[in-house]
Amino acid sequence: MQTFDYVRPATLAETFALLEAHGDQARLLAGGTDLIIRLRDGTVRPTLVVDLKRIPELRPSIHEADGRLVISATTVMTEIAADERIRHRFTALAESAAVVGSVQIRNRATLGGNICNASPAADTAPALLVYGALVVVVGSTGTRRIPIDEFFVRSGQTTLRRGELAAAIELPLPAGPTGSVHQRRTRRRGHDLASVTLACLVEAGGTTRIAFGSVGPRPVLAVDDSGVLADRGAPEAAKAAILDAMFAVASPSPRSMRASPDYRRAMLGVLGRRGLAIALDRLASG
Ligand SMILES: Cc1cc2nc3c(=O)[nH]c(=O)nc-3n(C[C@H](O)[C@H](O)[C@H](O)COP(=O)(O)OP(=O)(O)OC[C@H]3O[C@@H](n4cnc5c(N)ncnc54)[C@H](O)[C@@H]3O)c2cc1C
Repeated sequence: MQTFDYVRPATLAETFALLEAHGDQARLLAGGTDLIIRLRDGTVRPTLVVDLKRIPELRPSIHEADGRLVISATTVMTEIAADERIRHRFTALAESAAVVGSVQIRNRATLGGNICNASPAADTAPALLVYGALVVVVGSTGTRRIPIDEFFVRSGQTTLRRGELAAAIELPLPAGPTGSVHQRRTRRRGHDLASVTLACLVEAGGTTRIAFGSVGPRPVLAVDDSGVLADRGAPEAAKAAILDAMFAVASPSPRSMRASPDYRRAMLGVLGRRGLAIALDRLASG
């Protein structure tokens, strides 16, 4: 491992100054469950690691404000999976947090780290996409809110600019009843990244949102406004046609060691149909 300096700033201003000064040579550290592996294997070689854990504005928290649930970026998976508001209103997010790694990983892994690492297999990404999350980004020039669908570019790359960091993730509170679920497929039980990860949200108004990852360079959101997927009485053939069209953009890598492209595409269809059925049941049962 290449040597690097380690700092634990106590203010956001200090953090921004460090990021401005060091640019690509600086790396932020939250839980470290992705970063430390990459430091060890040499795929990232920063000269400075900036630990976010002592900054008061970034303390882990989950609260409601202005019709949104605000989850601070440093909130760990264990807290997200256990939070009653998330379990009840954003079920797919709680379920996705609950399957990240192991107990030990979930106690360290943050929501901000999961999305900023920008792995196509990030388990919370599909849930955040179906709920229309906003990433609250702060930097020396101020605060901006990026719709999560505009946050991911490709594996390892987001639309964060030099000197910026993710401070929180905001979830608009649903206006009416919804049903949602997270589904994933892994090679084996235990600690493995998903071969396919998917979330489905059905709204009482008839819109269905399905997002999926690990089947292309970034997680993808597809929306059905026709009402067909949300209609329990709609012909199965009509539903299958819509799901097939939604999943047509999947472009799994042929070089992955986890699963072949054909397997991933097949599993995407299976999880999509299964997820839709569960989300519809949850919507019906309130
Ligand atoms: C054994 C094991 C199993 C795993 N299983 C899963 C799994 O099942 N599903 C899954 O999705 N992931 C899994 N992971 C990956 C990892 O645990 C998650 O991606 C985790 O959420 C990363 O969060 P972190 O706080 O540890 O991020 P860190 O490692 O601290 O940071 C990750 C990246 O994001 C950047 N970053 C962190 N916070 C911010 C911020 N606030 N603003 C800007 N940039 C930031 C860092 O600079 C770094 O580049 C696993 C990892 C391990 C080691």
